[in-house]
Amino acid sequence: MKMKFDVITIFPGIFHAYLGESILKRALMKGLVEINIHNLRDYAYDKHRTVDDYPYGGGAGMVMKPDPFFAAVEALCGDPSQRRVIMLSPAGKKFDHHMAVELSKENRRIIFLCGRYEAIDERVRTALADDEVSIGDYVLTGGELPALVIIDAVTRLIPGVLGDGQSAEVESFSWGILDYPHYTRPPVFRGLQVPEALLSGNHADIRKWRRKEALRRTLLRRPELLEDSRLSDEDRTLIQEIKEDSL
Ligand code: SAM
Repeated sequence: MKMKFDVITIFPGIFHAYLGESILKRALMKGLVEINIHNLRDYAYDKHRTVDDYPYGGGAGMVMKPDPFFAAVEALCGDPSQRRVIMLSPAGKKFDHHMAVELSKENRRIIFLCGRYEAIDERVRTALADDEVSIGDYVLTGGELPALVIIDAVTRLIPGVLGDGQSAEVESFSWGILDYPHYTRPPVFRGLQVPEALLSGNHADIRKWRRKEALRRTLLRRPELLEDSRLSDEDRTLIQEIKEDSL
C-alpha cells in the first residue's frame, strides 16, 4: 500500500524545493509515496483567515487557534481510525530510527501539524493529535523542517525508494550501531592511505574490517548504543581487540 503523508502548515512554499529534488522526488514520481501540502489558512473561515490569537493569561507571543487545525484534519480524513495525526513540538517524544521504522509500516494516513509562533492551542494535542513528536532538544521557528526531516527519514525506508546498490539496512542505527567509515578513490590522497583491508579484494576481510570499525566508532562516540544492540560472539571478540588496540 502506498504511504500517504499530509502536512498542514501556514508556509506551504517551504516544501516544494525539498520534495522536488533527488530521492524524494523519485519516490513521488514512482508513486511509492504521496505527499500533500495544505495551507492551514484555507481552513480559517473568518474574513482575514486568522490562524493565531492572543494567549489566555497573557504573556509574549501568539498561539495558533485550534479550530483551523480541527477543520483541516477533518476535511482531509473524517474517520479518526484512518489517520494518524502527528503534532510537531519540542516537548514531544524524540524522533529516532526506531520511530522512523515504525512509521514506515503505518497503513493510516499520516498528517503532520506544523506549529509557528509561541505554540499550538493545547486542545489540538489533547483532542486531535495521536502523537506529539520532537526532532531534538532545540527550538526551531516552525514545524515545517521537523515534518520534512521525518518524511525524509521514513520515506527512505520504504521498499523500492533507494536505488539498487543503496541500502537503508547497512546504515547507522539500522544494525543498532553506527555506520563504518567509507572511502573512494584515490587510494592515497595527500599522503592519507585507504586502509589495506579495503584494497585487498578479500570479502571476508572487508566485512570483518567494516564491522570492527563500526563497533570502534560506536564504542568511542555512542557507547550507550552497544547496550541495546544484540552483539554476536564475533562482535564481542572484535570489541576485545579494539580495547587491546587502544592500550
Ligand atoms: N514555545 C515553544 C516551546 O518552548 O516549546 C516553541 C514554539 S516554536 C517557536 C514553534 C513551533 O515550531 C512549534 O509549535 C513546533 O511545531 C515547531 N518546533 C520547534 N522546534 C521543534 C522541534 N525541536 N521539534 C519539533 N517541532 C518543533
